[in-house]
Amino acid sequence: MTMLVLKGIVKTFGNFTLRADFLEIPSGRIVCVKGPNGSGKSTLLNIIAGIVLPDSGKIFYNGIDITYLEPEKRRFPIIRSEKGIFPHMSVERNIKIAKRVDDNELNRILDLLKINHDDLEKRAGSLSTGWKIRVSLARGLASAPGVILIDEGLDHLDPWYIECCLKNLMSYMREKGIIALIVTHRDDIGCDETLVMINGLASLETKRNT
Ligand code: ADP
Ligand code: MG
Repeated sequence: MTMLVLKGIVKTFGNFTLRADFLEIPSGRIVCVKGPNGSGKSTLLNIIAGIVLPDSGKIFYNGIDITYLEPEKRRFPIIRSEKGIFPHMSVERNIKIAKRVDDNELNRILDLLKINHDDLEKRAGSLSTGWKIRVSLARGLASAPGVILIDEGLDHLDPWYIECCLKNLMSYMREKGIIALIVTHRDDIGCDETLVMINGLASLETKRNT
């Protein structure tokens, strides 16, 4: 089974140390990442994305050691904030730049994110924050990711979108076997479980959310 496994991960910045002794996340699992400011949530996502290298420990995906694999080769897109989009490019270019799915699948993704045909021509920089996050999510999903890392992005979505479509987005990721790690302050995301970060220590809560 496809899985993301972190073993003995340690990363120190000055007097802050992140530790993830053992985390095992199966395919299609949606994990909410919670914890106070400065507890290491973003660092954990950056380590999984390959943007930050751990001082020690290993990361496996699909049984393969990817600890030192370049971020571009992991296909683990990270959605941080509206800054992830290319403002001078059209919505379409922003999404297609990383496209690996076929056109039918892309249409499904656009529908899930409520991006219609006319929207594709708009300049991405002119859009609202909630819109930019949806464009980033579309790009991430269109890359056929193994893992998607969302660092507070969902917290900036418009309430109407959360209401109509967030559940469908989650169902889509489960259907595709995508592992999602979602840093969020919201409690209505519908995650399968919660990963709690406290003072740099990561632990997966065994109790499942609904
Ligand atoms: P969170 O996302 O939970 O708010 P972060 O992972 O951003 O926490 O930060 C955890 C700690 O690591 C903080 O003390 C922060 O200052 C430190 N830190 C994060 N990235 C770096 C870096 N690139 N260089 C130095 N310190 C960093
Ligand atoms: Mg953060």
